[in-house]
Amino acid sequence: MAGAFALMTVEGSTLALISWMLKPLFDRVFVGKEEGAIWWVGGAIMAIFVLRAVTLIASRSLLSRISLGISTTMQRDLLAHIMTLDGRFFQLNPPGAMIERIQGDTIAVQGVWATLITSATRDAISLVMLFAVAVNIDPIWTLAALIGAPILILPAAMVQRYIRRKVRQNRANASARATRLDEVMHGIVSIKLNRAEADQTRRFAQIVGRIRQTEVKVAAMGSLVPALTDIVTGIGFVAVLALGGSEVMEGTRSIGDFMSFFTALALAFQPMRRLSGLAGTWQTAAASLERIYQVLDTQPRITSGGRSQAPASTAIRFDDVWLSYDDKPVLQGLDFVAEAGQTTALVGPSGAGKSTVFNLLTRMVDPDRGRITLGWVPIGELDLGTLRDQFSTVAQESALFDETLRDNILMGRPGSDEAALRRAMEAAHVSDFVDALPAGLDSPAGPRGSALSGGQRQRIGIARAILRDAPVLLLDEATSALDTASERLVQEALENLSEGRTTIVIAHRLSTIRNADKIVVMEQGRVVEEGSHAQLMARGGAYARLVALQFGEDQ
Ligand code: ADP
Repeated sequence: MAGAFALMTVEGSTLALISWMLKPLFDRVFVGKEEGAIWWVGGAIMAIFVLRAVTLIASRSLLSRISLGISTTMQRDLLAHIMTLDGRFFQLNPPGAMIERIQGDTIAVQGVWATLITSATRDAISLVMLFAVAVNIDPIWTLAALIGAPILILPAAMVQRYIRRKVRQNRANASARATRLDEVMHGIVSIKLNRAEADQTRRFAQIVGRIRQTEVKVAAMGSLVPALTDIVTGIGFVAVLALGGSEVMEGTRSIGDFMSFFTALALAFQPMRRLSGLAGTWQTAAASLERIYQVLDTQPRITSGGRSQAPASTAIRFDDVWLSYDDKPVLQGLDFVAEAGQTTALVGPSGAGKSTVFNLLTRMVDPDRGRITLGWVPIGELDLGTLRDQFSTVAQESALFDETLRDNILMGRPGSDEAALRRAMEAAHVSDFVDALPAGLDSPAGPRGSALSGGQRQRIGIARAILRDAPVLLLDEATSALDTASERLVQEALENLSEGRTTIVIAHRLSTIRNADKIVVMEQGRVVEEGSHAQLMARGGAYARLVALQFGEDQ
């Protein structure tokens, strides 16, 4: 910044130097007819232009380094911060809007920085120096030149507020645009199947239409002050001509004085125009900065505990746990124990709160009330990293990234050796299909894993969990999406994985959990029954009814 400032100072001074050189040019060369002066005056003017050219290149490259440095650092910090925030934040802020903040807002700030630094230093210095030349020639003429300036004050203040409001609106519109695009790209198949293309196009056109309208208003209002500056300058020129013209004709002032003054004034015109537009430009940056800081100032509600040592046991206990989203109760006094080294199955109708149990355990969300312990340590006391290291999770839909299959599996434990990777692939029945691919493990998974089938994606997720090798396994079975052959493979893979680990499994097919050590039946966020398959069948309660229902379906 200091370097750029120094260069701008030099560049800014050159305009004043040029206008300064016009005095000897007129008085000594044209009027005084000193032949030799032509050469040194011409040489000096040439040197000033060369200096200007050199500083221009140096300052531009320095400035872009600074403004890009600022925006890329902001982008990095924003993403890092956003990843510390919890579920609630992501529910309130859709992905598209967050992408727009990380990209759109930081780039808006970056563009403005360059203009701000350039104008605020180079243009301000040019102006000061040019006015110094003008005052040096004649302070009264200078005052006359500024006679119209007060006209600018009120509109400048009004324009600032207007632009701030409109730019804020448009940043929100840009977020809406990004969100719309994100939803369209992800929902493209549903859009086509429901033939909603025209409707989506219409909605998108509305948003971009609003952006265009607002942008045009901002541009028009933004040019108001520079336009008024033109008029003020015109008034100044006439005033100086009226005052100075007669003095030159009377011979009290030289032509050189007048030309030098006039040139200083003419050269001041562009920087003055740019500076007067600056307030509007600053408002653009301020609107984006406001949005960036809004995110940076959001603190995660789920904070890490201090204990970084893993608990000795992996027994899990929910003790009178309550949770509601807004006013909707989800868990209402949930109580159960999952013994260490055993398999506990959660069953119950959809919406009973089974997945919520996983979210609470991994602290994606915290309960409103109640205690959750891992190895008899309340999970809130554990360091978040330590806590999450205790779990391998296989979700219904494993998030795959548009990287190679190898990278997707290695996400479980980066830096694992080839042998461990191979073992995990064998156990998860991933080798079966990967080895048949031309590029093998180095094949891309496609955006969100779209190059693979549902069963293949799930097996990659299982391989990742196996490689992760954490003491507790959280399984959300999604066998219904699979054909019988892949279901058997996935089931086998899961059994391999849960062997000897504390496992909690959300079972959708009751046939897969007959051998579970304990079955916990949930309804509306409460446990209604628990026991082994045999015990619960003998009881003839909720579980027995569920089994009868599913048995009927399976026939
Ligand atoms: P299950 O896994 O048993 O089908 P879940 O644990 O997924 O049930 O959900 C339990 C209830 O909580 C559902 O009624 C669901 O709509 C609600 N729910 C889950 N997550 C959220 C959320 N982030 N915001 C609002 N409601 C939610």
